[in-house]
Amino acid sequence: MSIEQVRERVAAAESAAGRAPCSVRLIAVSKKQPDDRVEAVLEAGHRLFGENRVQEAAGKWPAWKERFEGVEMHLLGPLQTNKTRQAMELFDAIHSLDRPKLARTLARLAQELGHCPALFIEVNTGEEPQKAGILPGATDDFIAEVRRLDLPLQGLMCIPPAEDDPAPHFRLLAQIAARNGLDGLSMGMSGDFETAIAEGATHVRVGSAVFGAREDG
Ligand SMILES: *Cc1c(COP(=O)(O)O)cnc(C)c1O
Repeated sequence: MSIEQVRERVAAAESAAGRAPCSVRLIAVSKKQPDDRVEAVLEAGHRLFGENRVQEAAGKWPAWKERFEGVEMHLLGPLQTNKTRQAMELFDAIHSLDRPKLARTLARLAQELGHCPALFIEVNTGEEPQKAGILPGATDDFIAEVRRLDLPLQGLMCIPPAEDDPAPHFRLLAQIAARNGLDGLSMGMSGDFETAIAEGATHVRVGSAVFGAREDG
């Protein structure tokens, strides 16, 4: 599928949900994709990309940012505390804020650097033990803590369990965001972004539907 076709599907889902055109931002997830596929999407005019790892993004994106004006990069994957500074220099948004220690590190570096990426708190809506994210029951308190640190909190993010119907997870995330006055909802991937848009997603993170299967399979 091309980026244009995915964009058309996003537009159709917005319209079906009675939402305004362009109310959903399409993040093209370029992790582990061959360079020529990413360049084709850049050539087609797309400028918003997501990566999972700081190291991988630091290796390949600086050159593309020089060649293509207006590239915006979002970090989607787990962030180790010792990579926070590098992540803040590379990314315009971080979708994986998942613990108090990381929030405190971001706040300290934001003072020092004079800027901070937009932040999404990752919520472990399926309460899966192996998965990153704040448990739903602890999220209100964590949101308050992040706000006390004066960090630019934009919204919440989730990755529903692969075997579940994603809709209830998206609904839960939207409820937590609404009761905390947060606008941003980062939810929906290649297999379920239309469902996520129906449930209020503001950012969908679409990889394989845009670029094809990844090299890791
Ligand atoms: C890889 C990844 C995606 C994109 O997944 P696809 O199924 O290829 O669309 C979205 N979000 C996160 C956090 C990811 O790691």
